[in-house]
Amino acid sequence: MSHQQAVIHHEKLLQFLDGLISSGKHLYAPQRKTGKTYFLPVSQSGSIVFDEIQTTLSPKEILFPKVERLLSYEQNNGTLHVIDHGTAGQMPDRVLFGSRPCDASALHTLAEFFRRDEPDAFIEQRQKSLTVISVSCVQSDQNCFCTSVGSSPGDTRGSDILLTPVGNGKYFVEVLTEKGQSLVGASGQYFETSGPFDKTKVLANIDRSFSSTEVAACLSKSFDHPFWNDASLRCLGCGACAYVCPVCSCFDIQDEGTAKKGGRLRCWDSCGFSLFTLHTSGHNPRKTQSDRWRQRLMHKFFYMPDRFGLLGCVGCGRCSRACPADMNIKEQLIEIKKTMEI
Ligand code: SF4
Ligand code: SF4
Repeated sequence: MSHQQAVIHHEKLLQFLDGLISSGKHLYAPQRKTGKTYFLPVSQSGSIVFDEIQTTLSPKEILFPKVERLLSYEQNNGTLHVIDHGTAGQMPDRVLFGSRPCDASALHTLAEFFRRDEPDAFIEQRQKSLTVISVSCVQSDQNCFCTSVGSSPGDTRGSDILLTPVGNGKYFVEVLTEKGQSLVGASGQYFETSGPFDKTKVLANIDRSFSSTEVAACLSKSFDHPFWNDASLRCLGCGACAYVCPVCSCFDIQDEGTAKKGGRLRCWDSCGFSLFTLHTSGHNPRKTQSDRWRQRLMHKFFYMPDRFGLLGCVGCGRCSRACPADMNIKEQLIEIKKTMEI
């Protein structure tokens, strides 16, 4: 469909969101909890936080929960009952509001990643039932680098509707997909028609620090480079960077229960953990933290683009904000480009 454009005022936007809740949709939006900001279920629009540059955790859990039950089993009178949670039940209609363009783009990448080979029924169902309303960035901080990874503060990728604050409590609205059209079409009273608007006049100005294609070319020849030893010296292997990242997709499968009753769980994991690659024999092919840090960057910026045509980073900067050891991914990528340039 061709993009439709409109304008909405802040108060009407709140009414529109409350209307979505009243109509039975499950709305998730940024909300404060213990001094941090998360995407949480919303019961009324007044609790939504609009002024954060970036939430503490990304909306990744909406598609890919931290822990999820894949199957359950129970034996009754000698009969085994198995429930495959990937095919059981219908997902409710969900709306994600207030994601930044980088987060919407990350959800798109994540869904594409899990669609390879054998499509993941859990992620597919969640993506089908989800409508994404993002808000463009009119402010940024020193950790943001979306423009270096092929995106921008007003990127439409992954969003069904994109709102851009244009001042005086107004938002320029781009309706980008049929899912977006269906929400706006059912609530036309809140929107005013509008002509085109040049978003670049109001978007945050984020300098391009490197080109991800050039970084990938450097990484392709860097496996044995001494850079990795120095680069990873501060890394504690805590995994915080992976847990806040909207694109990281490492997981572990755990079985729990007894022969009579139990289940299988999928839980987030991180390639930064030493246990991630530890074999039962005791051998670990990534035995040092530098091996693991190299894997993190290689996977995101070289292996994923090379194998799947997807970049494993959207430049949200969360990993740099969250790292207790002050490891900064943007600085490291600039350094890789300088050190390894051929
Ligand atoms: S958050 Fe920092 S210290 Fe922890 S694993 Fe990531 S880079 Fe290492
Ligand atoms: S690697 Fe860091 S900057 Fe890139 S998407 Fe993940 S959290 Fe954001």
